Amino acid sequence: MSAAEPLVIVGASYAGTQLAASARELGFDAPIMLLGEERHAPYQRPPLSKGLLTGKTSVDALALRGPGFFADNAIDLRTGRRATAVDTAARTLTLDDGTTLRYGCLALATGARCRTLQVPGADLAGVHDLRTLDDALAISDALARATRACVIGGGFIGLEVASALAARGAAVTVVESQPRLLARSFPPLMSDYLADAHRQRGVALMLGHGVRALIGESGRVQHVELDDGSRIGCDMVVMGIGVLPNTELAQQAGIACDNGILTDALGRTSEAGVIAIGDVANTVLPAMPGGPARMRLESIQAANDGARAAASALAGQPQPFGGVPWFWSDQHDLKLQMAGLPQAGDEAVLRGDMQAGRFSLFYLRGGALVAAHSVNRPAEHMHSRKLIAARARIDPRLLQDPSADLKSIQRETES
Ligand SMILES: Cc1cc2nc3c(=O)[nH]c(=O)nc-3n(C[C@H](O)[C@H](O)[C@H](O)COP(=O)(O)OP(=O)(O)OC[C@H]3O[C@@H](n4cnc5c(N)ncnc54)[C@H](O)[C@@H]3O)c2cc1C
Repeated sequence: MSAAEPLVIVGASYAGTQLAASARELGFDAPIMLLGEERHAPYQRPPLSKGLLTGKTSVDALALRGPGFFADNAIDLRTGRRATAVDTAARTLTLDDGTTLRYGCLALATGARCRTLQVPGADLAGVHDLRTLDDALAISDALARATRACVIGGGFIGLEVASALAARGAAVTVVESQPRLLARSFPPLMSDYLADAHRQRGVALMLGHGVRALIGESGRVQHVELDDGSRIGCDMVVMGIGVLPNTELAQQAGIACDNGILTDALGRTSEAGVIAIGDVANTVLPAMPGGPARMRLESIQAANDGARAAASALAGQPQPFGGVPWFWSDQHDLKLQMAGLPQAGDEAVLRGDMQAGRFSLFYLRGGALVAAHSVNRPAEHMHSRKLIAARARIDPRLLQDPSADLKSIQRETES
């Protein structure tokens, strides 16, 4: 690609914004256009299910970059514009206003959208999902008139929303089809801890129940009907049943997709000149404990790190995506922080006091630390990220012992 050919980025959120920023930091001097279909300038999504709903975070505090950032870095940000088609042979992108743009490199950072519940009544008024700022504002608005809320889906977003709605005074019920919370991410011990924590804080949980229908009156939701015929009365419903990657542009252009756009550790797709990053990308992670693994991560860290890796390749200094995956979630007074990806069969070692809500669970595989889940233990989370990256082999008795200093263990590992 010649220096004069533009980088066109579709999707103006974490991955797209970080790609533009990192490309400029690394000296990429071709024009950069950052296109987003939402009407807002890039903003932070995590507070949408946390502080924005409780009222602790204002809309003004959500900006992803400060005023002047885009102009100062010669990034041509265009909001409210949807890309509708890609022609990889001609290297052009078509927008919803009919404009055609030529690109030297195209970055697909189109993220993901909410899965929708395929049951009767899912289109009633008062039924919400949550991906965008506009979705969050609609939920917040509905909450001002609601006293009973039903959250469908006991994953991270559903549980954060349940916590926030409960904090705003609503009576909240969470319906989860699996027999335990966060079954894909957590071992049973953590799921059970979290279920108790929610119940103790007033959230009702209906585990192992599917939803048969949403029942309304005068077009507005009134009940959630479960698979056993029982009904939960509610004034509003929030669905948090996962996301689907926005792969349509890539698929239409013949780019290889399978649960996301397939990429290597530098974000390169099957099509030369097209990269994909963030929630939409199903990426090879070279440095996973069992060897390289392909996965589609849905986190700020993965979006930012994937964008940095792709920018390094664009700037001719390739640094593949390779860090330890990490994620956080705020539920009630609990700060959950997750590093690495545990698997069934890992040895779990507890440090701290689960009842007191301050502990870490460390996961060892073949004697090496591969993952850690911390609750209200931010320092332990930070140390564990470094220890996991170093594949540290630590005696479980040391991990368990609250008087053994993890910082010193980490330093010893590094020396
Ligand atoms: C409520 C909520 C809470 C979250 N909390 C956390 C958290 O606590 N910690 C964490 O790590 N992660 C959290 N996440 C996940 C995190 O926000 C995502 O991993 C991250 O936003 C992914 O960034 P992205 O840039 O890949 O995609 P997205 O943020 O999904 O952005 C993609 C953008 O592309 C736009 N777009 C799509 N198609 C087109 C098109 N054809 N033309 C133009 N624009 C297009 C979309 O409108 C969107 O604005 C949360 C997500 C949500 C929704």
